[in-house]
Amino acid sequence: MSKVAHYLQEHLSGEVTAAKSMRKYFSTDGGVFELTPSLVIYPRNESDVRKTTRFTWQLAERGRVIPITSRGLGTDQAGAAIGSGIMMVFPAHMNRILEFDGGSGKVTVEPGLLYGKLQQTLHTHGKFLPPYPSSMEFSTIGGAVANNASGEKTLKYGCTRDFVKSLRVVLANGEVIQTRRLSKRELNKKMGLTSFEGEVYRTLDSIIEDNKDVIDKIKLNVSKNSAGYAIADVKHKNGSFDLTPLMVGSQGTLGIITEAEIQTVPHNPKTSLIAAFFDDLQIAEKAIAQIRDLSQIPSAMELVDEKLLKFLDKHNPNQLKGLVSKPFSKLIVLIEFDDSNQRTQKRMAKKATKILNKMGVKYQIETEDSEKEKLWSIRHSAAAVISHSEGNMKALPIVEDGIVPEDKFQQYIVGVNKMFEKHGLDVAFWGHAGNANIHMQPFLDLSQVGDRQKAFKIIDEYYSLVISLGGSTSGEHSDGRLRAPYLKQLYGEQVYTVFQKVKQAFDPYDLLNPGVKIDVTVDDIKPLLRHEYSMDHLGHHLPRS
Ligand SMILES: Cc1cc2nc3c(=O)[nH]c(=O)nc-3n(C[C@H](O)[C@H](O)[C@H](O)COP(=O)(O)OP(=O)(O)OC[C@H]3O[C@@H](n4cnc5c(N)ncnc54)[C@H](O)[C@@H]3O)c2cc1C
Repeated sequence: MSKVAHYLQEHLSGEVTAAKSMRKYFSTDGGVFELTPSLVIYPRNESDVRKTTRFTWQLAERGRVIPITSRGLGTDQAGAAIGSGIMMVFPAHMNRILEFDGGSGKVTVEPGLLYGKLQQTLHTHGKFLPPYPSSMEFSTIGGAVANNASGEKTLKYGCTRDFVKSLRVVLANGEVIQTRRLSKRELNKKMGLTSFEGEVYRTLDSIIEDNKDVIDKIKLNVSKNSAGYAIADVKHKNGSFDLTPLMVGSQGTLGIITEAEIQTVPHNPKTSLIAAFFDDLQIAEKAIAQIRDLSQIPSAMELVDEKLLKFLDKHNPNQLKGLVSKPFSKLIVLIEFDDSNQRTQKRMAKKATKILNKMGVKYQIETEDSEKEKLWSIRHSAAAVISHSEGNMKALPIVEDGIVPEDKFQQYIVGVNKMFEKHGLDVAFWGHAGNANIHMQPFLDLSQVGDRQKAFKIIDEYYSLVISLGGSTSGEHSDGRLRAPYLKQLYGEQVYTVFQKVKQAFDPYDLLNPGVKIDVTVDDIKPLLRHEYSMDHLGHHLPRS
């Protein structure tokens, strides 16, 4: 074992290992890239995180850079949870719910907590955390915060950033900060500190003040966005200042989260669900817009396309039995209302069906739990595509998260279908109709040179298409390594320079998850492409807590 490993083993209470099998295990995540860490640490507490960062900072001051990648359960689809240095793995020990206040609905958690476990606990108190990702049963709350994750309920409730109230964060030099919205006076106090924290506040404030016009232009015309740094949300017009929204979605590149205080909201499982069957994309776009604009927005508007249904019909026909008849519609959109007032809920559902009737769209409406569950199973069956393989042909997450302005939805779908057709691929899609955010994973064989080249062509064409439509490269999964090379194209040179300055302010030695989000080119990521793709073993390999 190296001197670094020995030193850390002696000073940390969590486990430290440089075993080859462990390093190999953490060399991949849910994405298509591979990078082997030199060391794996399972921090037992915040003190372990502080000691590690202080140590690597001191080494960096002497010219030796050992980066740190934070990791939850490694389901990241863009290669953000891999790194060449220290892998800091949270779910083993730092996985508790620390506090829950049923009155205010605020919950304080450690980052390694399984999201699904938190959600289940909240349900028993009649609450929930709405922006849950579809991966919540096998991913952590820390990963969701770091990615600004979102999901099927984001249409009505918002993304993770909207729910995180405050964070405890270990900075690159080992100092701990507690973020929350500060008044102008409190900000001045912070800026007066002689510590690294003070320096971060001072630098960030001058970056914001010096680049007001550029930062004002950051807002894209999309309903949710996980690309780049949320610098525009830090300082409000009244002078208040909060690093929390910036940390959310920063993918471990600005600091390491050790605690999060999160707002939860009342949960109403008694919903009304409509399944609408569309044969015409133009009508679908129009109906989706009109229903989204009702006085109470639906809690979800989720879609699957015809190709997904055909895929299921071929590989798992029982799943569709009695639910969907042939010939399949071009799109099925599930429209859910969850208003706590049952009369309002039913009224909204009725209004939605009126819109569908007017446009001649077939639909089915359900309020019975068992029937609703069956309809939801159509949408959730997308998991069958992701886990399917034919030999070495795997469904790859390379273009899985683009979002466009809502009025460009039809153009987006047509453009994507054309692109795949050109490459001789038949690709199913699913996702968030209400947000114009769709997911798709083309089947390719990464052991074949031709398919490896094709993957990068598709990546390039797809992100250019999304950007040309005024969209964002990531609605929910964030940039990672995969989308980092397209950030400059997405936001333009000036905004990108601001992002670089933000990174530099927090992490002058490039110790925190380098190669993710910022200063990455396509040439940087090409050599990291895996020669096989699988997600078979994600989430295991943890010491017992
Ligand atoms: C089948 C499938 C479905 C998915 N569905 C969705 C979806 O619906 N919506 C969605 O948003 N995403 C989705 N994802 C992507 C991913 O699962 C989520 O973003 C999830 O929240 C990541 O959690 P994780 O624990 O796996 O994080 P990881 O993959 O371990 O890490 C994700 C990022 O967070 C950083 N990080 C982790 N812990 C910390 C910490 N303590 N401090 C600082 N940074 C940290 C990592 O460095 C990395 O950059 C899906 C993935 C898969 C495989």
